[in-house]
Amino acid sequence: MSDSLIRPRPRRQCCALLFGVGLVFLVIYVITVSSPSTILFRSFSSFNSSSVRTPSVGLHREYDVWPPFAVQLISHTWFKKACIVKGEFSISGIPDVLASWAATENPDCKILYNKFTAIYTVEKRVGSVKIPDTFQSQVKAWLGNKDDLYQELFHQNIIHILNMYTRETTVFNPLRDKRPVTKPKESEEDYLERITKESALSCDFCKYTNFTAEHDFGRVESKLSFSASNIFKLDRLHAVITIKDHDPVNWSYEQYMDMMHTTLVWLRKAFTHEPSAIYPAIIWDLLPKSGSSQLHPHNQVFLSPNRYQGMVETWRRAGQDYFSDLHSNYFTDLITLYSALGLAVQFKSAVALASLTPRKDNEVVIIAPEADDDFFQLIYYVLRAFMDDLKKYSFSLGGGFPPMESSAQAGRLPAFVRIITRGVMTEIRTDISALELFTATNVNIDPYKVVQVIKDSVKKRAPRP
Ligand SMILES: [Zn+2]
Repeated sequence: MSDSLIRPRPRRQCCALLFGVGLVFLVIYVITVSSPSTILFRSFSSFNSSSVRTPSVGLHREYDVWPPFAVQLISHTWFKKACIVKGEFSISGIPDVLASWAATENPDCKILYNKFTAIYTVEKRVGSVKIPDTFQSQVKAWLGNKDDLYQELFHQNIIHILNMYTRETTVFNPLRDKRPVTKPKESEEDYLERITKESALSCDFCKYTNFTAEHDFGRVESKLSFSASNIFKLDRLHAVITIKDHDPVNWSYEQYMDMMHTTLVWLRKAFTHEPSAIYPAIIWDLLPKSGSSQLHPHNQVFLSPNRYQGMVETWRRAGQDYFSDLHSNYFTDLITLYSALGLAVQFKSAVALASLTPRKDNEVVIIAPEADDDFFQLIYYVLRAFMDDLKKYSFSLGGGFPPMESSAQAGRLPAFVRIITRGVMTEIRTDISALELFTATNVNIDPYKVVQVIKDSVKKRAPRP
């Protein structure tokens, strides 16, 4: 080692060195702050390299292959006995059920609890009001002059349920559902009969060969149903699948199943003509209250390339995020959790769930490995329960089917649809407002009431084995 390196530097030399280093840093700083693009570049690169994973294709995140979807139910009776010491199984009781579930020592119950709380956040807030004497009689009248309901106004249970993966929030206030129903001037049945007759006179679907369009590859037709191309399309492959009879409500099991089979035949035909379009989605609105433009019963299907449309893709994304966090199939676990809570009804390979985050009244989610007869039959039992048992004739249905290509395993959805009932048909006011469009959804019907309706329908309508 040379002397010069170990010998202390004279003081003047040290000052010159410090000045020189400072000058270099000053020059770098001036260059940096004087160039906005340099700032952007610097901040982007430091942001990018620190903690955020760089997307591999543009800004579109990719999908993994999830564990295969399986219909795995567990016994609600077992769950009540093993996991819950106290708590009532109702929408108002869910917060107490959760508190009891959280304290469980049973390892199986703990696994279920961790999965449930990974998906759902449940919050109960108690609301009260102060009512001036002058207003009391009017408020009591709204509640059918029932004193117990009036007293409930001062400690209202408001339940917020959030699905942390689909980002949907539903706010329940069960007291709202206890208000007596006021009868409309014209009964819904009279209204239905009137508009069915009026609309039949000028219905294009009743004269479909002359007044509906076809796709380039032609029409699909069977004994009881047919396909048409939507005139003003929302995708390249956008079809209307229609029962041949005009009556919006009084269609049989055979007519309905025929329409669903025609739907599948059309999807297969469309896929053959455009093999890049592999993601099928279905919607069905019935009667004007739901937004349907034609009374004649018809669903609509889309077959899209790249991804599913809108909310269907959001549910697929939820499945991916859940897989990334828990290495499990979101849809399999959803069925397991709902069955534990007593909110699932199984029919063969399909399952109906009374949703904890419904988009609107009475939401039922039907899930099955494939869009097959089991799946369509269970949908039929739900629709007939709404129309024939609850007398809720107007509904909206929407969901997606597995991709048309069996090799498309990444982010593979099962078949699912969500069905809700729409408000009173004769009421001008719509059942959806800014609340549903831009913030949360308000539903007041207890999912435990909904699941009972579906159980009764399957018992009543499904053929005995
Ligand atoms: Zn018609």
